[in-house]
Amino acid sequence: MAKQSAPVKKNQTVTLTFEDLTHEGNGVGKINGYPLFVPYALPGEVGDVKVVKVKKNFGFGKLLDLHTSSPERVEPPCDVFYKCGGCQLQHMSYDAQLTMKQDQVRNTLKKIAHLEHVQVHPTIGMKDPWRYRNKVQMPVGAKADGELITGFYQKRSHRIIEGMETCIIQDEENDRMVEAVRRIADRLGITAYDEETDQGVLRHIMVRTGEETNDAMIILVTRTQKLPHRDELVKELTGTYPHIKSIVHNINDKQTNVILGKKTEIVWGDAYIYDKIGDVTFAISPQSFYQVNPKQTKVLYEKAMEYAQISSTDTVVDAYCGIGTISLFLAQQAKQVYGVEVVPEAVEDAKKNATLNGITNAAFYVGEAEKVMSWWTAQGMRPDVIVVDPPRKGCDEELLKAMTDMQPERIVYVSCNPSTLARDLRILEDSGYEVKEVQPVDMFPQTMHVECVSWLEKRT
Ligand code: SAH
Repeated sequence: MAKQSAPVKKNQTVTLTFEDLTHEGNGVGKINGYPLFVPYALPGEVGDVKVVKVKKNFGFGKLLDLHTSSPERVEPPCDVFYKCGGCQLQHMSYDAQLTMKQDQVRNTLKKIAHLEHVQVHPTIGMKDPWRYRNKVQMPVGAKADGELITGFYQKRSHRIIEGMETCIIQDEENDRMVEAVRRIADRLGITAYDEETDQGVLRHIMVRTGEETNDAMIILVTRTQKLPHRDELVKELTGTYPHIKSIVHNINDKQTNVILGKKTEIVWGDAYIYDKIGDVTFAISPQSFYQVNPKQTKVLYEKAMEYAQISSTDTVVDAYCGIGTISLFLAQQAKQVYGVEVVPEAVEDAKKNATLNGITNAAFYVGEAEKVMSWWTAQGMRPDVIVVDPPRKGCDEELLKAMTDMQPERIVYVSCNPSTLARDLRILEDSGYEVKEVQPVDMFPQTMHVECVSWLEKRT
């Protein structure tokens, strides 16, 4: 076939009808089958687009004007939505976001796994889809006169958005704490870290809060080994805000995008704050992984529990268990739970959380889940139920094999990536398991992310 060139040129203006949204949240419109990806355009809309980038098989455009706008288009409530890259969907009604996520899961299962008839339920959304994040990591910069500023980076850059006073998907208290630290640090003359020159002090202000307990942990990340004016900072913060339970200094002296450095020191108060999901209490340390939307995490885990249908005689494996969040939920009903996770610190936290809750029937192991599960299989372990919650890249093939070799009655697959979920469900279907239902849960409103719980049964 002769090589075809793109039907558009850079800087050309074209009129497009938008059909779809990409996984990044860009509208998709086509010219003679050639797709153009256009930020902020919604399916069903017609508009003028300036072509800004032309590649062989696709291009990018900028929305200039709308001829027909979608009934689902809403005014984004955040002042900096069009500058910031954090949210992608504030210009879409929440109901439409939920439907779009359900469709996305359904279509992905169809396309990748050929699962046409599996029931994909309507996405479970939040009553109030704002202010849900319990952890903020805010970069610190400075104005020309040196005054400290905080704000997220502009899209595809490391320039801080000036005048960003609030982030409306953050817990309100987190917002207030970031501003309090900024104000006090500025008054004390603490300088901002400058990425370009690798000079200055304060890099990030991080705040974590316990949804149930309202405890707050403040983490100050500096380039320098010393935290200047440390005692004054502590005195002002703790004197004014009694819900602060912990102040932590983290040192990151590397020229890097990674936020936290290796060295952490408790400057004041406790090494942990606590939060509760359902009846289980979790200790959260500065570095430990903890779900950022605790309300929806409860919804997600309850669904996983419902699908798992565990009885008091059951042995359960929780692969990719992190700090044991799902394992400890499962342990309330099971005879014995085995969790496996690759990060040693997370496993330490999981054990600590089990003790904290008086749970004695959950054991945790460090290792690659695929290796440990293969070994368990060889040792003859035959769990009744397996729960997996892998990272975005999905399950390792060796793990899928170990899982089906163990022949559990039921598998519950929690996933944050519909594409790898679909790939893995196909393999499990071909290895004797039937996908019964998939439930999308909206853990990250206003963004393109979607989480799913899937239920599989062994075929008889
Ligand atoms: N179930 C937990 C964590 C899920 S996140 C919760 O809900 O909180 C996925 C976890 O998989 C992370 O903790 C990550 O460290 C872990 N992980 C990644 N690759 C792994 C592997 N090969 N083996 C075991 N764990 C792995």
